[in-house]
Amino acid sequence: MLLNLCKTYKCCGIIAKVGGKSNSQHLLAKASDIVVKNVSPKEVYNAIEKLIESGKMKQGGLGLYDSFVHYDVRGVRARWNYSKLIINN
Ligand SMILES: [Zn+2]
Repeated sequence: MLLNLCKTYKCCGIIAKVGGKSNSQHLLAKASDIVVKNVSPKEVYNAIEKLIESGKMKQGGLGLYDSFVHYDVRGVRARWNYSKLIINN
């Protein structure tokens, strides 16, 4: 997979608003907003979920948005869906 790691603060800004959490995982450099060319965010989300389940990626935060997927290594499992899409596993 060709990953374009975007260092935007956009999605964690939304998380901060919703959850009231000021210490974003992006600021700790433990997060990425992932966009894969020609692959939908939903497919990227499901692929990362499978990699986490199989132990190939660290457990952490995984969030689906309309145009990208947020992944971070906070150490505990967290999932959210801010996209209009329904996640199918
Ligand atoms: Zn993010």
